[in-house]
Amino acid sequence: MDKVKLSTIWLAGCSGCHMSFLDLDEWLFEVAKFADIVYSPVGSDIKEYPEGVDVCLVEGAVANEENRELLYKARARTKFLVSFGDCAVTANVPAMRNMLGGAEPVLKRCYLELGDETRKLPHEPGIVPELLDRVSPIHELVQVDLFIPGCPPPAPRIQAAIEPLLKGEQPLMEGREMLKFG
Ligand code: SF4
Repeated sequence: MDKVKLSTIWLAGCSGCHMSFLDLDEWLFEVAKFADIVYSPVGSDIKEYPEGVDVCLVEGAVANEENRELLYKARARTKFLVSFGDCAVTANVPAMRNMLGGAEPVLKRCYLELGDETRKLPHEPGIVPELLDRVSPIHELVQVDLFIPGCPPPAPRIQAAIEPLLKGEQPLMEGREMLKFG
């Protein structure tokens, strides 16, 4: 059986979901038996999201143009996309700024009103990605094949969800242990 091509991407999140993935500890050696990591912020330094990915875990909400572009690319190049953690599933903490009426008032508050002596709005096209007015969970932009809630999802839940996927099977997402938020 060919190895599964596995990727993970990191959008607007704190990386805690990726840290929980690393908490799989020695079971990661089992992952390596069934999958090749073809793109990830942990354990790889591949710059371009590849074609032909089988499974992608998406951490984080969509908060800026770079997040949106990477998510669209990952969706187009991946068979099975997983919304991984509460920020991807609900937008969670990054979406708290949605209550403040768009990107501009948030940027003004942070960089002008609360800024130090060099008050300036960040604007470096091509270097600093522009914030989107509204932070979104990923399923609002692309089709999602599986949701793994949790902030972060505990390692046993991640294992229970991805172990079947690595064997070409569908995980059973039922019960408090698999579906609890927070
Ligand atoms: S769901 Fe929680 S742990 Fe995961 S990126 Fe968001 S804030 Fe961090």
